[in-house]
Amino acid sequence: MSTNESQSPTKGNFWSKLELWKKVLVGMILGVIVGVVMGPEAVMLKPIGTLFINAIKMLIVPLVFFSLIVGVTSMEDTRKMGRIGLKAVVLYLSTTAIAISIGLGFAAIFGPGEGLNMIASDTTTVAKEAPPLIQTFLNLIPKNPVGALAAGNILQIIVFALGLGISLTLIGEKAKPAVAMFESLAEAMYKLTELVMKMAPYGVFGLMAWVSGKFGIDILLPLIKVIAVVYLGSLIHVCVFYSGLIAFIGRLNPIQYLKGLANPAAVAFTTTSSSGTLPATIKAAREEMGVSKGVASFVLPLGATINMDGTALYQGVCAMFIAQAFGIDLSMSDFALIVMTSTLASIGTAGVPGAGLIMLSLVLTTVGLPIEGLAIVAGIDRILDMARTTVNVCGDMMVSILIGKSENELDESIYNTEKSDLAAEREIA
Ligand code: ASP
Repeated sequence: MSTNESQSPTKGNFWSKLELWKKVLVGMILGVIVGVVMGPEAVMLKPIGTLFINAIKMLIVPLVFFSLIVGVTSMEDTRKMGRIGLKAVVLYLSTTAIAISIGLGFAAIFGPGEGLNMIASDTTTVAKEAPPLIQTFLNLIPKNPVGALAAGNILQIIVFALGLGISLTLIGEKAKPAVAMFESLAEAMYKLTELVMKMAPYGVFGLMAWVSGKFGIDILLPLIKVIAVVYLGSLIHVCVFYSGLIAFIGRLNPIQYLKGLANPAAVAFTTTSSSGTLPATIKAAREEMGVSKGVASFVLPLGATINMDGTALYQGVCAMFIAQAFGIDLSMSDFALIVMTSTLASIGTAGVPGAGLIMLSLVLTTVGLPIEGLAIVAGIDRILDMARTTVNVCGDMMVSILIGKSENELDESIYNTEKSDLAAEREIA
């Protein structure tokens, strides 16, 4: 080992020091090259990708369960907190449902997967008959939560986790040991996600080699379209929809909102983690937007856990793209199912890099779309994650401002001050 290191110290260091997203990009590019050169033979590299996909699937159930409980229990049980929590949850979820609809709509209009004519190898995963909507609602409540966990029924797990989280909040003092345990397990799951994501460059390499070997270089054009559709949808969601809510519901100048977003948006874009961006978001909410300490420190951490508009928008685009690519027609109840699954799943999506990709596998399986679709978008996940995390954080900020305003906890003199003047004032102070 030490001999190897001394023989090629730079090589080893270079790869291990490279940031994960760059490694993933390298894996993707190498995968495409190897796949194109090898052609259909590249299927022999598929198991590396399958290993990665299986590892991320392994995370879904515990990640959703623990992080959701922790999200709910982080609301404290005072009246005001209850009211603010309710407003936040309603705003978070309704804007998420709109985000996914924008994603589905844009992908329907621009058709990034149109004409790809892919064939799913595992026909059992294709377009199973979706259950009637009423049945889906009835099935939300698990008769046996352990069974739901074992079967990986995410909607049922979400409902049970919400119930358990609320009950833990209600019993107060007695819940402390359990809450501490769930918090530590949630932390461990975030860590495990990070560890699994370390496999991403290799997994993506295997998947891209197999996919481009099987489908040829033509696959790249629709991927560029997917990126363009996700970025366009994200831009409109923040600049038109969020700004509109700030202007019409908050009666505030949306330009000030957009300007105050600069710092946290830049951190979100580069780290692709809304949890990692949280300190920057809280700082900007208080110092640039004038949101009170109480509202910012309650609403924003909750948002970093449960509010994922960008992720939902991306899932809408990807689900539609995959359906188009595999020539599967989605019915109205499929759309409703996608909106519901993504919205509920967004609660349980951790604000860590790549979590949305894991949740996409859940949306695909729920609607019965081929899981191979995941392989195609996994290669460009980092690029998409940058956009969706930024939207996630901008959404958290928007909700904290609206709630601050409605609770009289927004200092409008700070909100309306030119952001450059605020920076100068801070410097003088
Ligand atoms: N990276 C995103 C976030 O932290 C989650 C996702 O992967 O969609 O907000």
